[in-house]
Amino acid sequence: MMSLQNLSSTRELIRAASKELGIGRSEAELVIATLMNRPRLEIYLKDTVNEEDGFILWSRIQQLKNGIPIEYVTKRVQFRDYTLSVQPGVFIPRIETESFVELLPKILPRSPERVLEIGTGCGAISIALAQLYPDADIIATDISEPAIANAVQNIKSFDFESRIHLLRCDMLEGITGKFDLIVSNPPYVPRSRMKLLPKSVREFEPLKAIDGGEHGVQFIEKLVKKGMDYLTGAGVMALEIDEDSVKKLKTFMADRHIGSFVFKRDLFNKYRFLFIGVGNEKS
Ligand code: SAM
Ligand code: GLN
Repeated sequence: MMSLQNLSSTRELIRAASKELGIGRSEAELVIATLMNRPRLEIYLKDTVNEEDGFILWSRIQQLKNGIPIEYVTKRVQFRDYTLSVQPGVFIPRIETESFVELLPKILPRSPERVLEIGTGCGAISIALAQLYPDADIIATDISEPAIANAVQNIKSFDFESRIHLLRCDMLEGITGKFDLIVSNPPYVPRSRMKLLPKSVREFEPLKAIDGGEHGVQFIEKLVKKGMDYLTGAGVMALEIDEDSVKKLKTFMADRHIGSFVFKRDLFNKYRFLFIGVGNEKS
């Protein structure tokens, strides 16, 4: 165990973190800068670390060593232009979802005015949409109490309280009216793949946010079945999905005579998004 008097400078902390986490110096610099929430160069410019800060940093390095995602250690996550708070127990927004938001203006025929997000987690998608569409009024739901509490915090800190209305409910329960856009990044990982997820996900993230049932489409099929009635005439449903579910979803859509939809790939070139109400994909 490293003694705290050895950790009175950032140089020493970086050396110790590199050894403790088994990473190189530049990665350790990034880790320390992230934990300190300061630019990398600045951590060298003010090199002295007092005992209390040294202790806090060392305990955070221990959390990382135990596999806790860095976002839960810092309680921060970057999502597009925003640094959001993310609390342990709440799903950590992924980069794929940032590209999902980027795609929307390219796909949607017009700016949506009434938006419904199902399963908002810490509020990332709704906050990004409130910024993208200044005239939109958004309802964001989640079934999880910690998620709603986390989203309240983020929505307040970015001053979107008058435009994003949070509701704790199961999917569409209690929702009335019609929407130009229903958007969701639902639980979609097929059950058989859950055990293959990285340890940091399996052990620390809420599995109910990720587990999509036997084929990864349990939530999606239910949402499409019920949600279509909540769309306005030219309304669009935008969903994040798993690539392995594409075939199953195409069959589902054909069975329900939904002819207007399109699948789009993410930045890793995997089919990741389904837009219903635009395009006309066949079979
Ligand atoms: N939208 C956030 C994002 O993209 O980072 C969170 C997405 S996370 C994959 C799925 C979210 O759906 C979780 O926050 C989870 O609590 C929520 N959820 C799961 N089942 C739900 C249900 N039946 N009704 C509403 N939300 C649900
Ligand atoms: N892409 C996420 C993961 O693999 C899962 C997201 C989801 O189920 N919506 O951890």
